[in-house]
Amino acid sequence: MDHECPFCRIVQGRGKADILYSDNDVVVIRDIHPKAPVHLLVIPKRHVGSADDIEDPSTWSTVMDAAVKVARELGLREGGYRLVVNCGAGAGQTVNHLHVHLLAGRVFGWPPG
Ligand code: AMP
Ligand code: ZN
Repeated sequence: MDHECPFCRIVQGRGKADILYSDNDVVVIRDIHPKAPVHLLVIPKRHVGSADDIEDPSTWSTVMDAAVKVARELGLREGGYRLVVNCGAGAGQTVNHLHVHLLAGRVFGWPPG
């Protein structure tokens, strides 16, 4: 684990976060700068820098299954929701610990900005 990584700090209980869901493999928190009425981050507990750094493909099912489970539990299916992974600074990744954005509660444009 990277002790300077802000999401590792949260996973380790050393960083403040509003945690909605947690299991052995993932933690789901509220984004501190929400871009939609619902803006959550699904974070694997094991440090992986980005989508491009994934070595174990089960990481995808772990984070995506958790995202869908939380979305269902929050009743987001009917209104729809968006799952986003920014990979690399050029795509807007600012925290170098893999995370899936779960966004809902408003109409989303396409293509994304
Ligand atoms: P990205 O730009 O795709 O890397 O997304 C990083 C997201 O993490 C941004 O939406 C930030 O607002 C959010 N963020 C950064 N630090 C924290 C934190 N300590 N707690 C909750 N969300 C955070
Ligand atoms: Zn980390």
